[in-house]
Amino acid sequence: MPIHWLHHFGDTLIYPKLREALRYFKAHGYGPGNVSTNAILLNDDKIDMLLEYGGNVLCCIDTMEPEAYKRIRNNNHFEKVKHNIEKFIAERDRRNSDTTITIQFLRTAHNMDEDLTNMMDHFGQHDNVRFIEKRTDKHPKGGDITVVALDDEFHNKRTCFKIRSELCVLWTGECVPCCWDADGEQIIGDVRNETLVDIWQGERHKKMQQQLYKGETGVLSLCDKCTGPISDNIMGLREQVNAHALRWIKEGKRVVLAAASKAMFDLYEKTQLRNLNVAAFCDINPEGKVPPVNIPVLPYSAIEEIKPDAILIFSPAYSTEIYFQQKHWREDNIEIVVLGEFL
Ligand code: SF4
Repeated sequence: MPIHWLHHFGDTLIYPKLREALRYFKAHGYGPGNVSTNAILLNDDKIDMLLEYGGNVLCCIDTMEPEAYKRIRNNNHFEKVKHNIEKFIAERDRRNSDTTITIQFLRTAHNMDEDLTNMMDHFGQHDNVRFIEKRTDKHPKGGDITVVALDDEFHNKRTCFKIRSELCVLWTGECVPCCWDADGEQIIGDVRNETLVDIWQGERHKKMQQQLYKGETGVLSLCDKCTGPISDNIMGLREQVNAHALRWIKEGKRVVLAAASKAMFDLYEKTQLRNLNVAAFCDINPEGKVPPVNIPVLPYSAIEEIKPDAILIFSPAYSTEIYFQQKHWREDNIEIVVLGEFL
């Protein structure tokens, strides 16, 4: 059973035996062991350890606005965290390490309108540095800070991918079926008495999966309140796209959509993008691309001629790369929205 994350609602760097744990996981073929940190404790020693053993290190700064940071994180460490992440990236580059650094942007009520590209601008383009956007309103206990109203069309509890793909071990040894169960509300087993495989394949877990799949309510206290990844894993993305699209429709903006990939065409068909004034799809290789409607697919070099008001970039693997390569569009007063990856 692969081990993906060495934390559960906590900061991995607090664990005093982390170096031994990372070494153990690597030596026994469990994968590199991904690490999540708020980067407050990310000193030289920890950086050294992570560059030696870490596979992917998620650095949760969440915002580039100091006031919003204070509210989201409830501490005053914004400058320190920013500096630690900068130092981590610089050292990673200096050693040419293959550790991937992912910088987290967290959209909450305190930074609802913040532009993700400010964070990208600040930390810049580096090999193996990625950006990810998360949202708190998806969490069962984070419903007070809804960002965008749900589109009912997608509100369907039958396909929660978390309960089919995850199992988390709490510090007590008790196991829960998804990473959002911080307080152990839905226990499916205990590693002090059973193996992980037995827990994963056990009756309790299977029953929970069936109850969720059938949409039974009143039996899974946390799932009943959850509006998270219960429909499909791009639901949050659709809501985000709808929010931008509705604003552009209201403001009468002409927009270019990039890249002209299948993912973008799917998004176009399933969101408010279909009601938007789309001037073109753009792609590095426009030839042979068949869009869902009669809108041209053009190379990026056509942007200067099109002069759109905004460009929406969504390419699951290359969004940030497109942004950095074409950043000069911003100097022409074109709004650029990059959709980060979603967890
Ligand atoms: S429905 Fe929500 S709380 Fe329940 S397993 Fe899925 S993600 Fe977790």
